[in-house]
Amino acid sequence: MSGETVVVTGAAGYVGTYVVKELLSRGYRVRATVREAGDRKKTAHLRAMANEEQLELHSADLEVAGSFEQAMAGARYVIHSASVVQLTAKDPQREIVDVAVTGTRNVIQTAIAAGSVKRIVMTSSISAVVSNDRDQRYIFSEGDWNDAATVKSDPYGVSKVESERTARRLVDGKGVEFVAICPGLVLGPVLCDAHLRTSPAVLYEVMSGKFPAIPNFFFQVVDVRDVAIAHVAAMEREKPSSRYVCTASAMGLRQMAEIARRTCPRAKISRWPMPSPAMYALAAFDKRLSFSFLERNLDSVPTFDNSRIKKELGLNFRPVEVSVGDTARSMEEGGFLA
Ligand code: NAP
Repeated sequence: MSGETVVVTGAAGYVGTYVVKELLSRGYRVRATVREAGDRKKTAHLRAMANEEQLELHSADLEVAGSFEQAMAGARYVIHSASVVQLTAKDPQREIVDVAVTGTRNVIQTAIAAGSVKRIVMTSSISAVVSNDRDQRYIFSEGDWNDAATVKSDPYGVSKVESERTARRLVDGKGVEFVAICPGLVLGPVLCDAHLRTSPAVLYEVMSGKFPAIPNFFFQVVDVRDVAIAHVAAMEREKPSSRYVCTASAMGLRQMAEIARRTCPRAKISRWPMPSPAMYALAAFDKRLSFSFLERNLDSVPTFDNSRIKKELGLNFRPVEVSVGDTARSMEEGGFLA
């Protein structure tokens, strides 16, 4: 119901920003948590959305126990989107998994302790759903968990599985409802530099000429505006399911490059295809790539059943062509391209 208070963690991030925008457009009061609320540059895109009455900014760090207390006091809903979004790290257990799990524990325990929170919606991922040990024809859905992931092979997958399960365990029997939204690769207009850090980086690198040749990657894509709608719909629906796969459909990076070229003819986009075996060699040196990611996304991509979210939350996904074109245009118009 409009006017109620919603806490959004990771609010300055790519997904978090659009969740805040969607909530404000529906009349909610938002408490946005970021690590440094006083950092005017990092939060300018949020501050521009509403006045301080509708949108409060709070400093909170996933790794600091108790830091979400002030933001949660008296809130009705929590949308927990903050996490470490990277596939590899020097110490993946500590830098990716522990931050996500400890942070989720802090957020959920604080929400329960607040006493006013009715429901928590968490941004999980298809990385918590899809595992590399299934037949190529298998269709993944909400009942699947990525139990094949290990910290060595896929620390990001482990972080999403463990943090979602931790949240479920903590709310059990505490009278607080829980819903997880599991998006695919998120695309759509970027609003600031920091939004180039996660999924839009794929298109950014293609458009700024950083790929000398285009790998045969495929992704299950969803538009960031639809991801935001999904979170708010899960928050508002009277009796939601506890988990929703949130992907529109699959598209290859080469097709994305073609759309970006048509949308932004001046961008420096390679026309060369990168042979797939070369990607495995490259992954040994490129910190952003993991073998598990290549196994899942090179030459094909797993299939998902997204019927539950369409039926129960009324999602009417934008076509991926639109998401890719809008992402490309926002990078050019925002002056983000090198
Ligand atoms: P993002 O732009 O990097 O946003 C993540 C946010 O998490 C950042 O704003 C960051 O806060 C916050 N964060 C990171 N470490 C933190 C810490 N120690 N304490 C407090 N906040 C911390 O990434 P995103 O793409 O929007 O991802 C948001 C969520 O969606 C994540 O849970 C991610 O797993 C999930 N997801 C993303 C995709 C995708 O394709 N992008 C797909 C599926 C699921 P600061 O702003 O303060 O740095």
